[in-house]
Amino acid sequence: MKQPIWFSRQPTERPEAVIIVGAGLAGATTARALAERGIRVKVLERQNKPAQAGSGNPQGALYAKLSARPTAHSDFHLAGFQQVTRLLAPLMHTHPDMVSLCGVLQLALTDKEAKRQQELIELAHYSAELVQWVDQTTATAIAGSEVGAGGLFFPSAGWVSPPAFCHWLLEHPQIELITGCEVKRINRTQDGWMLDTANRTQYSASVVVVCGAAEAAAFEPLHHLPLKPIRGQTSYVEASPGLPHIKTVVCGDGYISPALHGRYCFGASFNLHNHDAKLTIQDQQENLEKLVAALPGFAALNTASIKEGRVGFRCTTPDYLPAVGPAPVFDSFIEHYGKLRDDANWRFSTPASFHDGLYINAGHGSKGLITCPISAELLAAQICDEPLPLENAMSDLVHPARFIIKKLIRNQL
Ligand SMILES: Cc1cc2nc3c(=O)[nH]c(=O)nc-3n(C[C@H](O)[C@H](O)[C@H](O)COP(=O)(O)OP(=O)(O)OC[C@H]3O[C@@H](n4cnc5c(N)ncnc54)[C@H](O)[C@@H]3O)c2cc1C
Repeated sequence: MKQPIWFSRQPTERPEAVIIVGAGLAGATTARALAERGIRVKVLERQNKPAQAGSGNPQGALYAKLSARPTAHSDFHLAGFQQVTRLLAPLMHTHPDMVSLCGVLQLALTDKEAKRQQELIELAHYSAELVQWVDQTTATAIAGSEVGAGGLFFPSAGWVSPPAFCHWLLEHPQIELITGCEVKRINRTQDGWMLDTANRTQYSASVVVVCGAAEAAAFEPLHHLPLKPIRGQTSYVEASPGLPHIKTVVCGDGYISPALHGRYCFGASFNLHNHDAKLTIQDQQENLEKLVAALPGFAALNTASIKEGRVGFRCTTPDYLPAVGPAPVFDSFIEHYGKLRDDANWRFSTPASFHDGLYINAGHGSKGLITCPISAELLAAQICDEPLPLENAMSDLVHPARFIIKKLIRNQL
């Protein structure tokens, strides 16, 4: 199928240096992908360390929730999963605090989920190396403790510590990390982009990639992006001898990973309307209930024994896919493609307009561990004018201009 004109690639000139705003998973993976191509990268982060916001949980589950019938959406997740596991597999033994591909069990705790899993296995679109169905007894043996149901087992999946991964990614001679540096404005100048920071230092570059999660939309050229923060709380508990010894990641309604540094991390809640960063007892309770449904051996715990946890914000988009690529010039899109309001099939001949050298990588929702590395490769290839690592159908799926186009077609702009 012909690529719509608003997604067509425009030639770029490979830059010598790039500035990245934000040092979470999106920023760190993008920095590394560019650095590996010999580009000098400055990463500006407002916190005093990388991975203190959405990427700050000690452990996250690394797996792709596959749909029974492959869609472009699940193909993107699968491509991301395969790419990141290829990257991380050799690091598992040298960096045991950063990654373990110990397998992931996705339990069928509801009839709906059991039906979905059965359909996925019957349709057989995926190899047994990727996913297998296991009954409750086998799942119990894999997990190392009684589980609430059988389910899907992903043998090559596991957990990653996002902060440790970000530190590893940023350790590269081509990358300079500048912390305590809040970018306030990004302005176009004659030669490129000028970034004003809270401490009044200015930085400039011909190419800037904004990886600031939901805050990315605070910058004027990116105001139109529909990025929304969704609060999530994880809970921590000491892996005391009275608790089960978990050998694999177990997902039900929530997830738990094998203990890291003598502590279990499990969660996570979803709060659409609460924007408070304080821990709540309700969320600790909710996380505990989800955990016990998956692993009844944790029933001895109560909220009084869970003293610690962490609140983070996922950055989501209306279609739950990230926004990765060049930043569209909003007014020009409205001017040139306004006809979409009356006729979604109109054939346009005007090429789309993008802010020269300004890119976005945000909106990774609950799946950043699999979507950030592949998105970083996509962006680096776009910035360096290389062949893309993904088919057009997949790069179009995450293109930042899709939101404007969809809204025009729906007459919402
Ligand atoms: C509770 C919870 C559980 C999760 N569990 C999983 C999981 O199990 N598996 C999984 O794959 N994913 C999981 N995720 C999602 C994953 O963590 C995110 O998708 C990922 O961390 C997003 O990375 P990011 O770099 O886009 O955002 P962030 O990590 O939020 O990074 C954005 C960075 O930009 C900086 N920044 C913002 N504005 C500015 C500015 N103006 N100037 C300078 N710096 C700025 C911020 O300080 C921050 O460091 C979870 C998320 C949460 C919150």
